[in-house]
Amino acid sequence: MRGGRGVGRDLCGRRHALTQVECLLPDTHYPGAHYALDGTTWHDGLCQGCHGDGTRDGAVCGDCNGGGFSLVELGES
Ligand SMILES: [Zn+2]
Ligand SMILES: [Zn+2]
Repeated sequence: MRGGRGVGRDLCGRRHALTQVECLLPDTHYPGAHYALDGTTWHDGLCQGCHGDGTRDGAVCGDCNGGGFSLVELGES
């Protein structure tokens, strides 16, 4: 296809587990840090509470808010 946006690149689109800001980097950036338009950067990983399912005991997982991923602490120094 021609015109338009040219390259049909897929964006990561993953949301921050707490603030819900959306990562705007290309999908290929993962597992690098996510980056949102407001400058937020974060790492996440498969949620330990629901193992990526997004639900736990039939309800939305409280650790990841249903996203299946939770924040990973990087231990900034
Ligand atoms: Zn991302
Ligand atoms: Zn979870």
